[in-house]
Amino acid sequence: MQNLLHNLNPEQLAAVTLPQQSALILAGAGSGKTRVLTTRIAWLIQSGQVSPAGIMAVTFTNKAAKEMLTRLSAMLPMSTRGMWVGTFHGLSNRLLRTHYRDAALPQTFQILDSQDQLSMIKRLLKANNVDDEKYPAKNLMYFINNAKDNGLRANQVEAYDPIERKMVELYKLYDNQCQREGVVDFAELLLRCYELLSRNQPLREHYQARFRHILVDEFQDTNDLQYKLLKLLAGHGERHGGALFAVGDDDQSIYAFRGANVGNMSAFEREFQVENLIKLEQNYRSHGHILDSANQLISYNSKRLGKNLRTDAGHGEPVRIYEASSDLEEAQWIIEEAKSLMAEGAARSDIAILYRSNAQSRVIEHALFAAGLPYTVYGGQRYFQRAEVKHAIAYLQLMDNPHNDSAFLRVVNFPTRGIGMRTIEALQMAAEQYGISLYAAVPYVAGKGGTSLSGFVRLIEGARFETQQLSLPEMVRIVLDVSGLITYYKGEKEGADRIENLEQMVNAATQFVQEEGFGQAAPAHLGPQAQASSGEAVIYQDGIEVLDADAPLSTVMSPLSAFLSHASLEAGDAQAQAGQDALQLMTVHSAKGLEFDAVFITGLEEGLFPHESSSREMDGVDEERRLMYVAVTRARRRLYMSFTQTRMLHGQTRYNMKSRFFDELPEEALKWLSPRVQSHWSPNRKTAWDDASFNGGSDNKIAQQITQKSSTGPGWRIGESVAHAKFGEGVIVNIEGSGTNARAQINFGRAGMKVLDLSIAKLEKV
Ligand code: ATP
Ligand code: MG
Repeated sequence: MQNLLHNLNPEQLAAVTLPQQSALILAGAGSGKTRVLTTRIAWLIQSGQVSPAGIMAVTFTNKAAKEMLTRLSAMLPMSTRGMWVGTFHGLSNRLLRTHYRDAALPQTFQILDSQDQLSMIKRLLKANNVDDEKYPAKNLMYFINNAKDNGLRANQVEAYDPIERKMVELYKLYDNQCQREGVVDFAELLLRCYELLSRNQPLREHYQARFRHILVDEFQDTNDLQYKLLKLLAGHGERHGGALFAVGDDDQSIYAFRGANVGNMSAFEREFQVENLIKLEQNYRSHGHILDSANQLISYNSKRLGKNLRTDAGHGEPVRIYEASSDLEEAQWIIEEAKSLMAEGAARSDIAILYRSNAQSRVIEHALFAAGLPYTVYGGQRYFQRAEVKHAIAYLQLMDNPHNDSAFLRVVNFPTRGIGMRTIEALQMAAEQYGISLYAAVPYVAGKGGTSLSGFVRLIEGARFETQQLSLPEMVRIVLDVSGLITYYKGEKEGADRIENLEQMVNAATQFVQEEGFGQAAPAHLGPQAQASSGEAVIYQDGIEVLDADAPLSTVMSPLSAFLSHASLEAGDAQAQAGQDALQLMTVHSAKGLEFDAVFITGLEEGLFPHESSSREMDGVDEERRLMYVAVTRARRRLYMSFTQTRMLHGQTRYNMKSRFFDELPEEALKWLSPRVQSHWSPNRKTAWDDASFNGGSDNKIAQQITQKSSTGPGWRIGESVAHAKFGEGVIVNIEGSGTNARAQINFGRAGMKVLDLSIAKLEKV
């Protein structure tokens, strides 16, 4: 016990050992909030106040949940099974699986990811002859998700004009369609769960009595529905209910665009009459200069709950700032600096490269690849989002729940089996007419098309039958073959990678089965009842079907259902090979809660970070500043920041000013590095860029984006004279990159220095 507590400061100790009452731990980055939360769980259990089954801990990502479980296992001498640790979505999924009947869901309900949700909405619009110019699918998706995030069903949404009324009508149709197919979207998971618990008193009371302690990390980013769900579980205003222990930092609230409501912190304090409000002000993560930068930056925000951070770690290194001429050169600089960090002994995985938008990663990835440096991208193209993987998943989904229309449409004619658009339209009409799924409507389609469709149905049924007694990995193996996917990609020019990804799925399934504790021989199709009847964990208490406290996930889901949920919910984790010895690339958003020895914050340019969209939102720049605060506070010992004069983004060359955030950092904590630009072809050549007085640089006022169109030029040379329709005559002073990535720095005299993309700029030789 002493071991658990001896590494805490007095405020942390007080927080960890609070009595069973609601509490709010409000503290800045790196002050040990997550550590306090984890230690409290261990302490509660070890001191015998609660069994693992009495704990629910909500984390922001699946990765964080895994980490927490690992730490708890290390701290506790007993099994952590029975404890519910996960994200809101993961925990809701678990609850709905256990009580699928009460939630009016099929046992094999499946989770729609946002991509599938969007395509389903598109189909819905088409089937109902809705003008998608007037009602774009994306808008409708946002409308629906937003309503659900606020806990509102279609009949509860107030519509003020005909457009909104139509949206509400479509929302209702969408929900009906989901119900028919047995699928739920992300927001629905939470809303269903909320409705289930609010309507079903015995069930609610069961869980209220069970979870004596509910602990929530990153509380500042909860949305309204999540907070309502927590209130229900914690029995707010009711007899039963455990204590809600929330930790958060209002300065790190960065999900307002997804409905997060930082006001939940004060609402919680007020509604739960929180008496235990603890602030932690000692930072254990970052050196002084880094922390001073974070503190000063965030002080530019108004409306803060107010707190500061101090450290005993000393000033440490200054924050290094680099101005690059282009994004290509920025990437080169990062690589050089990362290499010298590694030469000093830094592990690759302790170096993070952060960016505001995913689109920025391409250039950096390219440079890392060329330099032969291993790297991992978090939240980039996720494994389970890749086309070939989604295809294979669709076959598995149909075997588990044939009424999933999205899955059906994805693979009914992939690989091609002669099922044309006409046939699909006939099928859709039949399904519409009888109010059934596409799969169920197959017998209603006549002719040659109908025969082909029946063939597809036989394929699915056959695969299901054939794999009935097999383990999940074996099942996946067979599906890859009988679906024809492997054969199909063998015939493709660049199919080798895709085949490798598909083969990888067998490994993913093996790993999943092991990690989730599914018995070796458990057939993939065996559902909960079958397992329960063999003496397993679903039990009845006061007439309610509940879960034995120690029950593993395998008692509420078949391995296949669980694996498919995992593919939808935990998609990011498959890619995030935690701890792997590789440089870590990610957006600032996904860096939340993490820490690294060295951090690069790249692309610090007006329009990019702060992002241009922020100027349209109320408090938009404040939110960007919080994001910057999150980025800065990820670093332990070394922090680098960079910006570039020109950048190619979304096919446009942008000329940006450096970010306003530089003016909000304490000068004494910074070290500005001078630009160094070198030509690929003649590294020793002195160019105009070596001359600090050239008219680009950090004061570059050409903030507008300029797009150049068309025509690849002939081979260009440094020193050559050129003419441009807009900028006049100039001289090429440097060339970077090659092929379609080639860009020239051109001195246009009066019009100044420009960097132009050679594959699109209209240049003439003079
Ligand atoms: P964030 O706001 O970024 O999520 P946090 O407040 O959750 O940060 P933690 O991640 O829990 O902070 O802690 C930051 C670092 O400080 C971790 O490496 C943690 O192990 C360390 N730490 C926390 N408290 C102490 C302590 N009392 N003594 C030594 N190290 C500590
Ligand atoms: Mg944390």
